[in-house]
Amino acid sequence: MNAVTDIPPQELATGDRRRQAFEANKLSKKLHRQVGQAIADFNMIEAGDKVMVCLSGGKDSYALLDVLLSLRERAPIPFDLVAVNLDQKQPGFPAHVLPQYLQSRGVPFHIEDQDTYSIVKKLVPEGQTMCSLCSRLRRGILYRVASELGASKIALGHHRDDMVVTLLMNMFFGGRLKGMPPKLASDDGRHVVIRPLAYVAETDLERWAAYRQFPIIPCTLCGSQDSLQRVQIKAMVRDWERQYPGRTDNMLHAMGHVVPSHLMDPRLHPFRTLKAAGQPDPGGDIAFDDDEACASPASAQLLPIRVERG
Ligand code: SF4
Repeated sequence: MNAVTDIPPQELATGDRRRQAFEANKLSKKLHRQVGQAIADFNMIEAGDKVMVCLSGGKDSYALLDVLLSLRERAPIPFDLVAVNLDQKQPGFPAHVLPQYLQSRGVPFHIEDQDTYSIVKKLVPEGQTMCSLCSRLRRGILYRVASELGASKIALGHHRDDMVVTLLMNMFFGGRLKGMPPKLASDDGRHVVIRPLAYVAETDLERWAAYRQFPIIPCTLCGSQDSLQRVQIKAMVRDWERQYPGRTDNMLHAMGHVVPSHLMDPRLHPFRTLKAAGQPDPGGDIAFDDDEACASPASAQLLPIRVERG
């Protein structure tokens, strides 16, 4: 049983409190290390950047802001943070929660009021998923706000599991080997979007949110739900992770170790003009070895490639 719980510290016995503090400290170090590593690996934040942190009121974006705030304190380079929430006017949205929290953290923030909820409700027929239009509208608004605030980077709270699930969704339902990148240029070509939680497991964010007691705003206010496909893939990934710990990290690691010559995209590898080079290639093909086809789960587990550092 994990000692980082959502039971308030004052309600725990002394021994439990000590154990909880120990576990929380360990988790805090892990989160800071993983976020710092992702920032460094992809050069996400540079000196003088103004990073706009998008806050939805969910656990992921709270954790993102929380970790970035403390990393900034000890970062070797100066950068600014500004938190932004888009109030989409969903029924029941508790508009006071985020301003109160952000004031208590002493972080500059901006709340953008835009009734995208009504637009989406009007345009999307009843019973159809609203997320695609909703996200498109939200993206456009956030890019505009980033320009108005003079932000050089836009930080989103997507984490490791989001990235792996997206990869699998694209493979299973889209026929494309395409994931969710840790850093990208926005589609309007004017911003750089970063995902500093790229190495962080969702379960760790859940534990951190419970420990820090973030004032979570439920994400079901719009009445829409994740698609059944996404729900299924998420459950599958969690189930695999339970059965074979490390598998999700391995999949994430694979996204950073692509071997185009062993895939099938002629735009990435010159299959059509390929000729024997006349020289042995030690890292080359092992077409006649059967380890690729026969790699058993047991042998695969002998080679755990972990993204998680430490
Ligand atoms: S869940 Fe609701 S708020 Fe989120 S993208 Fe879908 S429609 Fe928009």
